[in-house]
Amino acid sequence: MLSKRLAEVDRTRCVACGACVQECPKGAVRIMNGCFARIQKEICVGCGKCAKICPAGCIDVKDREGRR
Ligand code: SF4
Ligand code: SF4
Repeated sequence: MLSKRLAEVDRTRCVACGACVQECPKGAVRIMNGCFARIQKEICVGCGKCAKICPAGCIDVKDREGRR
């Protein structure tokens, strides 16, 4: 079952440092083309660890409801 919460990256502010990739306990984050982080929605459990560690503050954890 999918979690209630889901992390989202603001790609325009991501500096592709990879900290969120290291931090995610689920391995849900990938760096795309060395440019920005992408969160795999099916894997993310919304724990917020990535958001906490992100130096750019560009990850938000939001309710999954109403999103695809
Ligand atoms: S909220 Fe948690 S599970 Fe989802 S991408 Fe961030 S660290 Fe990974
Ligand atoms: S920690 Fe933040 S700035 Fe670094 S790759 Fe992840 S989303 Fe981008």
